[in-house]
Amino acid sequence: MSKKGIIAVISGFSGAGKGTVVNELIEKYGYAVSISATTRKPREGEVEGKSYFFKTKEEFEEMIEKDELIEYAQYVDNYYGTPKDYVLSQVEQGKDVLLEIEMQGALKVKEKFPEVSLIFITPPSVGELRRRLQKRGTETEEVIEKRIARAKEECAYMQEYDYIVENAGLEECVEQMHALLQSIHLSKNNQQALIKTITEDFDQ
Ligand code: 5GP
Repeated sequence: MSKKGIIAVISGFSGAGKGTVVNELIEKYGYAVSISATTRKPREGEVEGKSYFFKTKEEFEEMIEKDELIEYAQYVDNYYGTPKDYVLSQVEQGKDVLLEIEMQGALKVKEKFPEVSLIFITPPSVGELRRRLQKRGTETEEVIEKRIARAKEECAYMQEYDYIVENAGLEECVEQMHALLQSIHLSKNNQQALIKTITEDFDQ
């Protein structure tokens, strides 16, 4: 049994429904989630310290300087970054931590921590992606078009991910994600403590 938790990065096109999937994983299965810092303005209903830590550009740049972020990226005119302390302390305590971040950040995390699993959530089609973005109703048409354009660019990077999960329906996607995260615990990398115990047993 691995004592430490795992870090799993979850990305997907804006509008892929990954936020909802991650919330279900937290509520149903007790995963921890990293709360990011961002310079984006809060959307209606978003709560400081729960949705994000909302920062000014100056505050964010200070966090970069002080090396307080595991990674950060610029996405559609704003900064987004993952605070380091919380993630690492949760992992030490045996909690699995989900990082819901975009691709530039995901690739940076993989560079720093190669054992981290990168999971990509995609809707079944581009038409469905557009419908979901419009239905959300929180963005202007201009921002929706920017996000679709960004998704087109991001598509090429799906190949960099370890796992691709289709989100055709919430419940099925959540169950697949949970099953996947549990299997990641059984990977050779995460079973080093067990391998060591068995090996030492033979030597006694
Ligand atoms: P939104 O503005 O819709 O909340 O997020 C925009 C994008 O930023 C999403 O793709 C989201 O996953 C990503 N994002 C959120 N937090 C972070 C972070 O800490 N680092 C990076 N690199 N991306 C993030």
